[in-house]
Amino acid sequence: MYYPEQITKLIDSFMKLPGIGPKTATRLAFHVLTMKEDTVLEFAKALVNAKRNLTYCSVCGHITDRDPCYICEDSHRDKSVICVVQDPKDVIAMEKMKEYNGLYHVLHGSISPMEGIGPEDINIPGLLKRLQDDQIQELILATNPNIEGEATAMYIAKLVKPSGIKVTRIAHGLPVGGDLEYADEVTLSKALEGRREL
Ligand SMILES: [Zn+2]
Repeated sequence: MYYPEQITKLIDSFMKLPGIGPKTATRLAFHVLTMKEDTVLEFAKALVNAKRNLTYCSVCGHITDRDPCYICEDSHRDKSVICVVQDPKDVIAMEKMKEYNGLYHVLHGSISPMEGIGPEDINIPGLLKRLQDDQIQELILATNPNIEGEATAMYIAKLVKPSGIKVTRIAHGLPVGGDLEYADEVTLSKALEGRREL
């Protein structure tokens, strides 16, 4: 009880963010006190606005302010290919590359028996439903190059291959253990180009 209640509450709020421990939370909370009121208000508004007005696309799971999202609705995109990623941030990384013109499917996680996350806990049922559409000819598995990402890719490949849809995995140009979202555009582009059939 060294701090006034207001600052304790602010520290607690910052600690709810991923990767923020008590030390960082305290530093951030004290920093807020030094900020201009306008800036703080803008920050608070941005938080609420993002939460209230953004949702996940009911088709692909990407983050969006309208449903279906602009990618799913875009008539210029190649609707025969779906690139499967773990996180909406991966979609943004792929889009920045400007070389991929197909659709996406965001899993919102990866299979991890260690953490008790099974196929039903991530957006795999949604993917299987989409694959019933005859238009889909290729599924590109772009999950992260770590144990969970590989396991997830293998699981999906096994499930989908019997249907005759071509299943490919992006190449291992990506740093092992690294997240797709942090890969630079050249590396990502090469990984996509060098994808191999599973
Ligand atoms: Zn979508």
